[in-house]
Amino acid sequence: SNPVTAVKLVLLGEAAVGKSSLVLRFVSNDFQENKEPTIGAAFLTQRCTIGAKTIKFEIWDTAGQERFASLAPMYYRNAQAALVVYDVTKPASFIKARHWIRELHEQAAPNIIIALCGNKYDLIEGEIEGEDAKRKVSVEEGQKVAEEEGLLFFETSAKSGHNVNEVFMAIGHKIPEK
Ligand code: GDP
Ligand code: MG
Repeated sequence: SNPVTAVKLVLLGEAAVGKSSLVLRFVSNDFQENKEPTIGAAFLTQRCTIGAKTIKFEIWDTAGQERFASLAPMYYRNAQAALVVYDVTKPASFIKARHWIRELHEQAAPNIIIALCGNKYDLIEGEIEGEDAKRKVSVEEGQKVAEEEGLLFFETSAKSGHNVNEVFMAIGHKIPEK
């Protein structure tokens, strides 16, 4: 059988951007419209086969403490991968995501794989850009930050499932073979 590579992955981002929902979509292929922020497992695992590799994602979600306090560095210490999530309709959440990227570059493992996710893509899918558009962070802004910082980048929707598996697969591809 394939060797299994365990990968510690952490979720970072402003409250209510959809971190827990992305995990729920990836692990259970499910979505909840009004997800209770402080309820839910803080630790979940999901196996994923990528070519000849089997990756066991050990996913650390927050229990909602980002609403009240900053997350302790021990949360992301030793993480091999991080999902930094913002909401494409909330510019403040994009600013917050940039703070998290800086924090990870300063405090996390130097070779950490970071994926930047512009979530809630379903809210803006098909809309025409302009003054009244719900989209408040352009795809170019997201791509630019990702290019400058050397991150993977996806616009995702935990609601529709858009690009959710793709994020985890792309991370898995970048995990070195044992
Ligand atoms: P967290 O605080 O970052 O973990 O965010 P949650 O996963 O708890 O989601 C916050 C709210 O946004 C909940 O009401 C979710 O149903 C909703 N939500 C999460 N992801 C999406 C998405 O992709 N699209 C839409 N429309 N709503 C979402
Ligand atoms: Mg959450």
